[in-house]
Amino acid sequence: MREMLLPHFNERRLPVDMLVLHATAHCGEDAVRCLDTCKLSCHYVVTQEGEILKVVDESKRAWHAGVSCWRGDDEDLNSRSVGIEVCSPSLGQEPFAEEQINVLIPLCRDIIGRYGIPPQNVVGHSDIAPLRKPDPGLAFPWRRLSREGIGLWYDEERLQPEDDIVFLLGMIGYDVRSKAVVQASAYAFCRRFAPQFVQKDADIQHLVEHVLPDDFGFMADREFLKILKAVAFAYK
Ligand SMILES: [Zn+2]
Repeated sequence: MREMLLPHFNERRLPVDMLVLHATAHCGEDAVRCLDTCKLSCHYVVTQEGEILKVVDESKRAWHAGVSCWRGDDEDLNSRSVGIEVCSPSLGQEPFAEEQINVLIPLCRDIIGRYGIPPQNVVGHSDIAPLRKPDPGLAFPWRRLSREGIGLWYDEERLQPEDDIVFLLGMIGYDVRSKAVVQASAYAFCRRFAPQFVQKDADIQHLVEHVLPDDFGFMADREFLKILKAVAFAYK
């Protein structure tokens, strides 16, 4: 690590619980000079060659996030975060150099570990400033980083709509341990939250002995899925 300190910082007003990852189209020391010209900063720049340049001490509030918002907080993300710029001439549209990702991973892991940063607070600049910023870009290796304990990825097994229903019912608290109970839970969900999908049964005795319908086709209904998602979100 080499120091290329900039004077663009002030005192933090909050404890650190976020990591913000950026990409800059400027490379090497130019990236730091460019920040300086704009009176901006970050804590570290990771060059394409895999060198780490220290720009602002972590104990200080660097100026990298700008107007931004995450999980309902738009007050002062700079005070809560460590900011890292990763050099990329394509601004993150082409793959990042292996050398820099290999140093970025231990750097992020170290920061996350020291501050106990929760994985949902590891974000890209575009995540927190979607109207203003495109970085770190579509080639940024989020999936790979998540496997190294940096940030969150999704369960790729859960892409099928049926599994989605299982996941959402489970979020609410319904039993989803077998296919049969998933169907029954989905129907019980309808009884409570979406009775338009429940058939009335005039024969009460039949209803008691036959609590489930023969047809679970409603589970493919988009309206059902919409309501299920809304309820799961409320229970989250
Ligand atoms: Zn940025």
